[in-house]
Amino acid sequence: MERPTDAPLAPGATIGIIGGGQLGRMLAMAAARLGYRTVILEPQSRCPAAQLANDQVTGAYDDPQALAELAGRCDVVTYEFENVPVQAAATLDETLPVFPPPKALQVSQDRLAEKDFLNECGIATAPYTAIDSQQDLEKALAGFGGGGVLKTRRLGYDGKGQKVFSGPRDDPAGAFEELGAVPMILEGLVPFEKEISVIAARGRCANVATYDPAHNEHREGILRRSVVPAGISRDVQARAREAAEALLDRLAYVGVAGIEFFVLADGTLLANEFAPRVHNSGHWTEAACAISQFEQHIRAVAGLPLGNCERHSDCEMLNLIGDDVEALRSYLEEPATFVHLYGKAETRPGRKMGHVTRITPKRRGGRP
Ligand code: AMP
Repeated sequence: MERPTDAPLAPGATIGIIGGGQLGRMLAMAAARLGYRTVILEPQSRCPAAQLANDQVTGAYDDPQALAELAGRCDVVTYEFENVPVQAAATLDETLPVFPPPKALQVSQDRLAEKDFLNECGIATAPYTAIDSQQDLEKALAGFGGGGVLKTRRLGYDGKGQKVFSGPRDDPAGAFEELGAVPMILEGLVPFEKEISVIAARGRCANVATYDPAHNEHREGILRRSVVPAGISRDVQARAREAAEALLDRLAYVGVAGIEFFVLADGTLLANEFAPRVHNSGHWTEAACAISQFEQHIRAVAGLPLGNCERHSDCEMLNLIGDDVEALRSYLEEPATFVHLYGKAETRPGRKMGHVTRITPKRRGGRP
């Protein structure tokens, strides 16, 4: 089959989205506003994204038949989660454009490859070392003075597949087995003051646009709150944006990515991880910017001009996790709070049900 040209997608064209969660849902909404059709590839029927998309191919992400069907119905394919099988994306990429490039998946799926790649881009990270046995762990922990964070290399999310050693008193016995005896890395324990993220977009013409960094608060490994401005110096802000740009350029990236950093007391920035997709810590952009991260992503993959990332308001985004959604009514009663629910029928502990963004007038002259 002949691969479509890289000309901008005309209204009425179809964008395939691999993954059917809330991020796919918000991408489908943004695509619809720009006049595009969307088809979701997802094994679970009636998923949050398919409720709003034009159609769904119901199948596994690596099912050759489902992938062929998706390719046959779309003009370009994107994805909403980083664990899309690399081979599936690479196979699709032989017949139609896949954005972000499959290389971004390959790098971000493995914490060791990810950290190596960040360092190759000149972006500092915490010290780290590969761990393939209990013996490796004990030796590496001793080298880090007894403190560190052990993480599985693959398939960890929201703090799962991790174990923290606060210092020499934490006994590592059995930890390698406990996390499944799979390939892991040990990272040095970072004494960070803040966690921030930058949401960045790169268009097909290699232009990059970045949103203001957000200050992120996590609880039990899950993002709870993002605040913008992040309360960091202009210099830290500029360095975070530059790092995001360097990473996207190096990947010849097209689309939106989220890059998370630790900020140390002296302003040092250490990248923690990046996600080759729209990011939870960028949900505030739909309420506080003219062009949201979702629209920006669709614009990028469709070959349209990127929009302005400027913020018109200060804001605070709160995730509604599990029972938090019961407070819906009180959020709706607030005068300037943007409410977004994901259409999930069942509330479960730890499940992201929606988010709200409170906007307030932009303070001039404060810390960015
Ligand atoms: P991650 O899955 O890598 O994003 O880690 C989840 C959370 O654990 C982060 O948002 C941090 O709060 C914490 N964390 C992860 N890695 C480190 C580290 N090397 N040092 C200190 N805290 C960390």
